[in-house]
Amino acid sequence: FQFKLSKLQKEHPDKIIAGGYLEARALYLAPEYDSWGNQGRQSRTIHLGVDYWLPALTPVHAILDGEVVVATDNAGDKQYGGLVILKHTVENIEFYSLYGHLNVASALQNRVGDIIAKGQQIALLGAYPENGNWATHLHFQLMLSMLDYKNDFAGVAFHHKIQVWKSLCPDPNLLFKTEVSSDITEASKAELLTYRKQHLGKGMSLQYAEPLKIVRGHQQYLIDEHGRKYLDTVNNVAHVGHEHPDVVKAGQDQMALLNTNTRYLNEKINYFAQELLATFPKALSVVHFVNSGSEANELALRMAKTVTDQKNIIASQVGYHGNTNATIEVSSYKFDGKGGLGKPESTSIFPLPDAFRGKHRGESAAENYAQEVKSCVDAIRAKGEGVAGLILEPILSCGGQIELPQGFLKKAYQHIRQAGGVCISDEVQTGCGRMGKTFWGFELHDVTPDIVTIGKPLGNGHPVAAVVCTQEIANKFANGMEYFNTFGGNPVSSVIGTEVLKVIKRESLQDNALQVGEYLKVGLIKLQTAYPIIADVRGQGFFLGLELLDSQMLPMAAECDYIINRMKAHSILMSSDGPEHNVLKIKPPMVFSHSDADELLACLEKVLQEDFLKV
Ligand code: PMP
Repeated sequence: FQFKLSKLQKEHPDKIIAGGYLEARALYLAPEYDSWGNQGRQSRTIHLGVDYWLPALTPVHAILDGEVVVATDNAGDKQYGGLVILKHTVENIEFYSLYGHLNVASALQNRVGDIIAKGQQIALLGAYPENGNWATHLHFQLMLSMLDYKNDFAGVAFHHKIQVWKSLCPDPNLLFKTEVSSDITEASKAELLTYRKQHLGKGMSLQYAEPLKIVRGHQQYLIDEHGRKYLDTVNNVAHVGHEHPDVVKAGQDQMALLNTNTRYLNEKINYFAQELLATFPKALSVVHFVNSGSEANELALRMAKTVTDQKNIIASQVGYHGNTNATIEVSSYKFDGKGGLGKPESTSIFPLPDAFRGKHRGESAAENYAQEVKSCVDAIRAKGEGVAGLILEPILSCGGQIELPQGFLKKAYQHIRQAGGVCISDEVQTGCGRMGKTFWGFELHDVTPDIVTIGKPLGNGHPVAAVVCTQEIANKFANGMEYFNTFGGNPVSSVIGTEVLKVIKRESLQDNALQVGEYLKVGLIKLQTAYPIIADVRGQGFFLGLELLDSQMLPMAAECDYIINRMKAHSILMSSDGPEHNVLKIKPPMVFSHSDADELLACLEKVLQEDFLKV
């Protein structure tokens, strides 16, 4: 908003640009604007005055005859700095005018009780930082009462109290009758929805019965058009925090310099490859850059098929690996679901390796599930065919945050390799330190895959993804057919990916996932003992799941949905998954803190006590 207004001021130097009355501003992000209320954390974001974008030391004059009631230095970050408030009486109506962000010395030349004439200069506009660390502007506001304020007055209010504040603080533009910038308009939710329904892909879904309009991201928060800050526990794409300034800056700088395909030598792609490969065991030392998780898996599957000269892929029940043709064909989550065409001939599916509620449970679950993989291998061979490979996530996300039983993966890989197949670890959701204990999910299982696919977190929202493989596979795959990718590994994507990897290290985010993830898991297990609908708490680091079951071990999907919607009412975004939609997923940006975990636990406990969830 500040940016838009100051741009308008530059474009129209002859006009005074003002605006902002009752505007929701996502820029009030400091915790000072947060407090705890009936619905959990609430943030003050509604601007009660009008801002005038003028240079420092511009003289400020009284709007009407009045008496000084406040002349102070309202010092501190995001405060007013120099502040003067005048009291006016017009036709027996008393009201107040507030002038904020003033030059402190000039504001302090006024004395409480001074009588000021209309048009009299009362102060000069303050410069950064004495104006409360803002870009230079005048905050002008009207009030019908000082309430209990003595030396200050709120300039920003809670969105849910907007009607109260509107009745106390009238629109200052009524007095000025100046041209106010009104050309900053936003489409309404209804307009967005109507257009979307008609003109955007019809299979696209929207979260929540009352969809959210999100206009800004910041660290672990998403912010709606009312400036309401939602704590985001869903977004493992905004890995190092929404719109991390270092990642944004890296991308902006490189966009201004060069963006081209990979047919020229350039350091940026090499640096990126080096940074990425440094996180892998030595055997995995070649990278192909692509643009999405689906494309990464598509390429990995093509590699597996090319190097083995076989077409049969083994995958898990309820696995999801992407939206392209080949990835849908190995995604039981899709082809077994609504609109799916069923399992293709060349795909073999083994049962979801869920030791808690799956086909095999208890101590021998790992062995039994590995045996299921072996059965797939045997069935392929019985047809006189061979195995191209296995594709699997280290924790099955769409399957409902299913942790693989310890020992299963090692045995499964053995069966695949004995049959000549290659092992693909899909780390699109789990990678880049999210597991806490390890940087990659496969490392939890003491195996080294032949191919690893990486997506979501790598670009912090920018579409960059990668396929990492062994030299042997890379050599065999380069069979004469050129591998060309217009966008994959371009300099902009490369610097963004490099910066993401650096931020993970610089801000010790893997360790944060371990510490805070563990703290959160302990808190969730405590809730489990008090609220039996939480049947299982599982996962690693910042990749957790809560399975909701009734006393008969039957899934509680409606309750899961209820919790998600009630948590939204407490400004916390959550999501569900699992074939029966009864698993609450927690996979926040990696900057999620101990106090965020406390907020999540407190609100979740409050919601769990509601009648709908009583069993
Ligand atoms: N693999 C897994 C495990 C995923 O969860 C996803 C996306 N949810 C994909 C692949 C596909 O990634 P993308 O949406 O970036 O194409």
